[in-house]
Amino acid sequence: SGVGGLLTRAAATWPDHPAVRETGTGRVLTYRQVEAAVHALAERLAEAGVEPGDRVALRLPTSVDFVVAFFGALRAGAVVVPMSPQSPGPELEKLLEHSGAKVVITRDAEEALPEGVSGLTPESDPDGVAEVADAGRAGEDIAVVSYTSGTTGPPRGVMLSHRALLANLEQLSGVEGVLTHDDRVLIAIPLFHVYGLGPGLLQATSVGATAVLSERFEAHRTLADCAEHGVTTITGVPTMYAEFAALGTEELSRGLATVRRMTSGAAPLHPKVLGALREATGLDVFEGYGLTECAPVVTSTLVTGYPKPGSVGRPLPGVELRLVDSDGTDQAVPLDPHDVDDVFEAEGETGLVSIRGANLFSGYWPDGGHGPDEEGWFRTGDVGYLDTDGDLHLVDRANDLIIVNGFNVFPREVEEVIGQLPEVAEAAVVGVVDERSGEAVKAFVVPATGASLSEQQVVDHCAANLAGYKVPHAVEFAESLPHSATGKLRRTRLR
Ligand code: ATP
Repeated sequence: SGVGGLLTRAAATWPDHPAVRETGTGRVLTYRQVEAAVHALAERLAEAGVEPGDRVALRLPTSVDFVVAFFGALRAGAVVVPMSPQSPGPELEKLLEHSGAKVVITRDAEEALPEGVSGLTPESDPDGVAEVADAGRAGEDIAVVSYTSGTTGPPRGVMLSHRALLANLEQLSGVEGVLTHDDRVLIAIPLFHVYGLGPGLLQATSVGATAVLSERFEAHRTLADCAEHGVTTITGVPTMYAEFAALGTEELSRGLATVRRMTSGAAPLHPKVLGALREATGLDVFEGYGLTECAPVVTSTLVTGYPKPGSVGRPLPGVELRLVDSDGTDQAVPLDPHDVDDVFEAEGETGLVSIRGANLFSGYWPDGGHGPDEEGWFRTGDVGYLDTDGDLHLVDRANDLIIVNGFNVFPREVEEVIGQLPEVAEAAVVGVVDERSGEAVKAFVVPATGASLSEQQVVDHCAANLAGYKVPHAVEFAESLPHSATGKLRRTRLR
């Protein structure tokens, strides 16, 4: 029952199969050992006074410790609140207070914690003998409260029920050969984000595959880890693939020799990266689209089985998608993504992406506000359109729209055009206040290693490929751009 049942089932079915391998330490735990460590941790949590429904925060990197703490907290009936181990004290305090966490599991035994919150260090004892009964939470009970990375305003804790998380795994399993028991899945992204947690760790547990866990991504090191651990699939983000793509063909082929499939999500994957990796290795990167509120995967090019540059593919079986106007009325007809005629009618029109399915969240912590509407639809902040095949293309986030003299500019379109220049490694575009036009387009550009590039070259290339109001008024060169832990561009910081 519940998300914790995934581990219990795997431990019963494949007790001696490696569940997790840690790249840094070389530590390997079988499913039986993880289960034993989970029981021991659940007992310690109960001793610390944790009761079903209490929040337990995890401040841990991608590691065996995280896996044991996660399933241990669920076994004790707790609601897991994953947090970045890197977030500074004041942010930790804010989230602990907002979530009302009783215990925080952290490696730092000296960590200063607010009154009423106790710290617990993660000892994962693979010989743990305790037998702790499962608290039996399932269905609509909340399993995880996941805080989005919001940089402005109050924190938003997305409430994910056992039902929602399990539904998304079920929807993923409907996609041909997505993951099997024989796979070794590289997870070098944060487990505290639902992308690493759901399609990464939980999907691996659900089929009894091996999760290869890496605390830190570093292109050379990670490639060597892939070869050493015989990694077969990679659950990654665009920044990782962009760094891979910049390496030599020989190193890539060697590192990825055992890999059969790579997936990307959380932010747009540049077609240039997709093409470069295919050329160097013959491997495709399958792009998906997801949101924390959708637990998290919504669409993937794995549904059709072919990657398509610039597209995030089609909805997973069981996920409904439609495009609506900002006032909520249908822009496009309601879509059954598997019905080609339906899709055809809606082709090309942009709208706000709305989602319905058993994978949706239960509103925001603590009162469940702003969840799906009465008919079960959740309106994302993303703008997209469907092409003639019925594949989804994301245009941008509605909030990132720049309005120049009343004309709409979606930053991503301009970024992609700038990115076509071979001298460009990465580009980001934001709106800046302009006396005449209200807002103007400003570009930040990271030149490719060893390349030289002028502001005029960037402007000329844009002018040749974009309408005048979309052309940047200012170009600033930078060594790097600010990204979140999952590779999302932090536009607010650039602004
Ligand atoms: P916050 O708004 O607090 O910064 P967040 O919205 O980034 O948090 P997430 O749930 O991590 O929280 O991110 C979901 C968003 O990520 C989506 O709404 C979409 O804008 C973006 N996204 C996810 N996958 C892709 C993709 N393949 N291509 C483009 N954008 C994507």
